[in-house]
Amino acid sequence: MTSHTVPVDPFDLVIFGGTGDLALRKLLPALFRRFCDGQIPAGARILGVARDERSDAAYRELVSDALARASVDTLKPRVAEFLELIGYRTLDASRGEGWDAFAAELAAADATRVRVFYLSTSPSLFVDICERLRAAGLNDTRSRVVIEKPIGRDLPSARAINDAVGHVFEEGQIFRIDHYLGKETVQNLLALRFANALFEPLWNSAHIDHVQITVAETVGLEKRASYYDGAGALRDMVQNHLLQLLCMVAMEPPATLQADAVRDEKLKVLRALKPVDAANANASTVRGQYRAGAANGQAVAGYLDELGRNDSRTETFVALKAEVGNWRWGGVPFYLRTGKRLAERVSEIVVSFRQVPHSIFNGAGGPIAPNKLVLRLQPDEGVKLWLMIKEPGPGGLRLKRVALDMSFAEEFGVHQPEAYERLLMDVVRGNATLFMRRDEVEAAWTWIDPILAAWAAGNEAPKAYTAGSWGPSAAVALIERDGRTWHEDAH
Ligand code: NAP
Repeated sequence: MTSHTVPVDPFDLVIFGGTGDLALRKLLPALFRRFCDGQIPAGARILGVARDERSDAAYRELVSDALARASVDTLKPRVAEFLELIGYRTLDASRGEGWDAFAAELAAADATRVRVFYLSTSPSLFVDICERLRAAGLNDTRSRVVIEKPIGRDLPSARAINDAVGHVFEEGQIFRIDHYLGKETVQNLLALRFANALFEPLWNSAHIDHVQITVAETVGLEKRASYYDGAGALRDMVQNHLLQLLCMVAMEPPATLQADAVRDEKLKVLRALKPVDAANANASTVRGQYRAGAANGQAVAGYLDELGRNDSRTETFVALKAEVGNWRWGGVPFYLRTGKRLAERVSEIVVSFRQVPHSIFNGAGGPIAPNKLVLRLQPDEGVKLWLMIKEPGPGGLRLKRVALDMSFAEEFGVHQPEAYERLLMDVVRGNATLFMRRDEVEAAWTWIDPILAAWAAGNEAPKAYTAGSWGPSAAVALIERDGRTWHEDAH
């Protein structure tokens, strides 16, 4: 146990979709690591649920294989102990059989035990599962439900999901997960902004020139073709992850770290976003779709070939310029970009400060580069602050740009918890600070829907880009038109 790990009380966690990709690749390995760290007590129960008939032993074997793939060697001796917490129940969200026995089993635990229902299934099952939980009397105050993205594909469908889940659970019991918010760097953004006197006075349009948020993937469609082709990058990434990151950068200081204090401030940012619609979508957004190219040194097919169709106009890349219309941020553009099959897998936030008002150095050592604060979310989480210093040594006063590097893994020499480790334990503890509230999700869709409508009305195909590049050239033009460039030297 690390010195600051606080064990939680025994709980029941039911993972609907316990045999699926997310459960086996992310959730169970995250729980295992929390268990190894001493945070999950032996009395906890973790139940996987799916439609397949399967014994506890067969499910444990499946979980054991998944842990072998995901865990470091030093933890492997503890797998058998962890598997003792794990069970499996066969239930179908769309059929009534078995639910009463399942409810009775859960009810047999002591009356104060927290119950978490993690809906790691297709969102089309969320409503059915919630209704069955209600019918089985499993929605009382000690129950919590976790729902995964996507929450809808536009405002009306998001409202329908929120209404249906809200019909069964109180808002305080609903944890809408966005795993980007569980990343160390994002929490460190809170620490940097609000635990240092240095940044907050500069955190406004008088001192910040612009902000960039990039979430770049090298992968293509993987196994998600039918979902992704119906969604596209704007819905899949911008509506949730990128806008949530934007909120964390742009929000006013909350009075406390309480969930609603933070979420109130994020909501104000979403509501202050200037509309992007038919009037300005052409100038403010770029959509792209990858063609054949290379990824990680290998030739890869284009999107349409991967999809096996030649008529899709789904965007696999989007770049856009957003503006937060309030006193703090007036005139400061937030450039967002995300895409598949890009040159590198990297997620980062770049806060670019203004140029010094006057140089006394007469060009020695080249121009003075503006300061940048670079928060890297992946692959290696860390923070760099780019500064100008005097180049060491004789030969006159020459300037040099250097990064103060606070790479977390090296600095602290500890395992960096995966986002799901943090977030799962937050659900058990009932801490919703890093989860999205209903009104945030709906405010995000309220901003996204007019962009989708403008694209649909414009009826233009997405711009082609070569797999392995940084997206269509129009995305470079989007930022260069404003006399700025995408940040490239953070790694
Ligand atoms: P998946 O691999 O397709 O798994 C779906 C799971 O649901 C399986 O265990 C499946 O098992 C079960 N299931 C299907 N129909 C069911 C029914 N009627 N009743 C009970 N269980 C049923 O999906 P996934 O990739 O894990 O994704 C799960 C959720 O997380 C989705 O909402 C997805 O959008 C979201 N998500 C996933 C990822 C990721 O990395 N995978 C990332 C972000 C968000 P049976 O067929 O045996 O019932």
